[in-house]
Amino acid sequence: MTLHKTRVRFAPSPTGDLHIGNARTALFNWLFARQQEGSFILRIENTDRERASLFFERNLLDDLRWLSLEWDEGPEKGGGFGPYHQIERLEIYNYYLKKLIDHHFVYPCYCTEEELEDERVQLLAMRMAPRYGGKCLHLTEGEKRKLESEGKTPVYRFHVNPGSIEFNDLIRGPMKFEADTLGDFIIVRSNGIPSYNFAVVIDDHLMAITHVIRGEDHLSNTALQMLLYNALDFSPPVFAHHSLILGKDRTKLSKRHGSVSVKDFRSKGILPEALFNHLSLSGGSIGEGREVVSVDEIIEVFSLAKVGRSGAIFDEGKLRWLNAVYIRNCDTERLSSALLPFIREAGYEPEQLGQMSIKKIAEALRDNLVTLTDVGEYMDIFLDERYRLSKEAAPALKGDAAARVIISLREALSGESVTGENLYADALKTIQAKTGLKTKEVLMTIRAAITGRNSGPELEKIFNILGRESVLKRLEVAMRETIDSPYVTD
Ligand code: GLU
Repeated sequence: MTLHKTRVRFAPSPTGDLHIGNARTALFNWLFARQQEGSFILRIENTDRERASLFFERNLLDDLRWLSLEWDEGPEKGGGFGPYHQIERLEIYNYYLKKLIDHHFVYPCYCTEEELEDERVQLLAMRMAPRYGGKCLHLTEGEKRKLESEGKTPVYRFHVNPGSIEFNDLIRGPMKFEADTLGDFIIVRSNGIPSYNFAVVIDDHLMAITHVIRGEDHLSNTALQMLLYNALDFSPPVFAHHSLILGKDRTKLSKRHGSVSVKDFRSKGILPEALFNHLSLSGGSIGEGREVVSVDEIIEVFSLAKVGRSGAIFDEGKLRWLNAVYIRNCDTERLSSALLPFIREAGYEPEQLGQMSIKKIAEALRDNLVTLTDVGEYMDIFLDERYRLSKEAAPALKGDAAARVIISLREALSGESVTGENLYADALKTIQAKTGLKTKEVLMTIRAAITGRNSGPELEKIFNILGRESVLKRLEVAMRETIDSPYVTD
């Protein structure tokens, strides 16, 4: 017995940036394919010549790869079921159009835009749902020839017979549509370009797609597609229509809610694994309070029936929180390379950092970053030429205690007792022994003096990155702040 291999597809139209909702559909397909050890196919639905562009297609591929949704067949990959761009498949659609015409499922329609609009307005005035009334259904061959000799090029309509259309949805169970509400729909436009519903049926069939997983906004399209499957004598795939992702107010996620494209989140410094997790688990953990879940585990627990039914909420706040968790747990090598473009974007050239390694900076900052863009806020700490005492930090440097801390730190670092290895720990010990001040007080002063701020990354890490010379230079500046202390003037 040969088992039928699962084949799913993501079929975007490259007419804009990849929307979070579409990325979620791609993700569901990918997870399903990986779970079933099947194939994930990428097909580019670029028949809309005015809106589809290579620019958006490239970004789309890039965004999918960024999210680790590598496809098994498709653009830049090839495969045995190509071409994978619809615009290269026009002859195929044409072949099936002819078949449908020959079998009288489809007829040419010469109605003009104005005629169709009049019909629509009239139906609406009678409080009836607008649909094509079938004016061209019974044209004779002679009438067709005459219209064509007048230079009219037809669209092709699929003739819908009354009855019900039924299919079983993997997520939503049995579905039923009444055909008489549909009207004869266009499958090929007058410019020879197939409609979405026509092309998709041919492609899904010829690409041997076993499961069509897409948003519930396509449910009514599926009813039309079922008619085409029957007419073409193709057996339909299994359909699974998942609910759409919603904003926090439970309405459809749109620009009104803020960022909605993968590109937006990339540029905001979200890690792909955080977005992957948020989209696949809809922001929830997989239980036991665990939030960071490996891709393998997500593949294992993924359930179409579970994720698809109720509207999932896209919560940017939750995503940011999750992102901070992922940054904290990120492998240093990986975090450094993820941070690099954001360091550049914040106006710092890595060469400027001299001996300092990005890896050490990543290590020092990982607990302070919510997004990768936050790195820009902290970079000044590491550059002597950008070191400034902030207004907020100045009070921490006033008074006797502060002066004593600074002076003893300076002494400790200038002397022999503090070695390079444990610069921070040794210095801290010496200061405490000398001043007898509480650790908290000592640390507050040192932080203000060394970083010019009241909060930030762990001091020990900063010390290690800066090194003795740089810390001493900064202490000179901080000293000037404490100058009004009697301790200093003594
Ligand atoms: N090109 C369609 C879209 O982006 C594909 C829908 C489908 O998956 O069938 O909405």
